[in-house]
Amino acid sequence: MAPWLQRVPFKAPSWTSKLKAPPTRVLLANLPTPLMPWSCPLLQDLSVRWSLKRDDLCGLELSGNKTRKLEFLLAEALDKGHDCVVTVGGLQSNHCRATAVAARMVNLESHLVLLVKDQMLEQDPGLEGNLLLSRLTDATLHLCAASTYRSLGGDLQAADRLNEEMAQQLRRQGKNPYVIPVGGTCPLGTWGYLSAVDELQEQLSPEDPVDHIVVAAGSGGTLAGLALALHLAGGKQQLHGVNIQHEPDVYRKLIASEAMGLGCDETLASAVAGEVQLLSGAGLGYAQSSQLELRCLAEVAKVSGVVLDHVYAGKALYHFCEYAKANPDAFRNSHILFWHTGGLFGLYSQAERLQSLPKRVSSFQPTQPQPKVGERENTGPEGLG
Ligand SMILES: *Cc1c(COP(=O)(O)O)cnc(C)c1O
Repeated sequence: MAPWLQRVPFKAPSWTSKLKAPPTRVLLANLPTPLMPWSCPLLQDLSVRWSLKRDDLCGLELSGNKTRKLEFLLAEALDKGHDCVVTVGGLQSNHCRATAVAARMVNLESHLVLLVKDQMLEQDPGLEGNLLLSRLTDATLHLCAASTYRSLGGDLQAADRLNEEMAQQLRRQGKNPYVIPVGGTCPLGTWGYLSAVDELQEQLSPEDPVDHIVVAAGSGGTLAGLALALHLAGGKQQLHGVNIQHEPDVYRKLIASEAMGLGCDETLASAVAGEVQLLSGAGLGYAQSSQLELRCLAEVAKVSGVVLDHVYAGKALYHFCEYAKANPDAFRNSHILFWHTGGLFGLYSQAERLQSLPKRVSSFQPTQPQPKVGERENTGPEGLG
């Protein structure tokens, strides 16, 4: 049996030899995640071919791109003897849910600072979507008004500050918290996506090269990891980061600073940041979906059986395709890999807005069978097993 939930020595890919690799990781994710062909119905006019890297399948309640980062972050928390973790996110944060689940698995308490609308500050936040899982796995929720976060600047630094103040409160209570930045984005967490590129390279075959890689960017760590890894590993694919949260400039700076945090010099770091194509995909704003985005997500699910979330992956795909349609020559006949980063549970909070899905519902009345005497006595639904 693999040493699940244990810390194991980390063997970094050879092309990272110039970086300072973390000593351990804790085995949480179901890796490698599948790389599969995808019958995505979009961009058919450009004759593109799609593949899907399914990081949504690297666990179930502990799933999505945050899992790869948490393997390194929680290893450090355990190595350094912390007894709980603190992190921050929106009310439906996938990152907070993944952190709560992963922390529980390795026997750490979790404290989640969740940003809520001001009028919800005094209410029970309920059990919708990700909250059900965070609360089932015994996370302590600390609700913070989104207006407070905005008044602190509403950026990654503001999130850091909330984290740090929460950690100080916990320290005063005698706890020893490990602080995880928003989205798990920091140089250590980024190792999750350096390893992911190593994993991808094993899966790609030279006869079937990928031309483009598309990924959603929220806190930006996933994109930064992919960008640096593709550069160092000599990947030929063009990386497209669809920013669903911040301005493109924020991501450019973040990619460079993550690279430097990992030990790259400034020249290399800015080269890496310059190689990424940043597309804006915020649409109506973070976690706000337009009808067109939702319709796109529904069409993709209907044709391919793959469900994308509305906050990240679904939005990223929609806005990437809009960009490709406006720049057809760059994409005609190409092979596009879409990185599915997870987020399914958040979609459950959108059931209401997806009510307009095509209805394939009717009542069904089977003709009554005549059971032979003595057979199938138990005819209630429980008899169906
Ligand atoms: C957090 C998240 C992202 C964005 O990843 P970052 O590393 O924060 O940029 C994308 N998709 C899903 C489903 C996520 O939960």
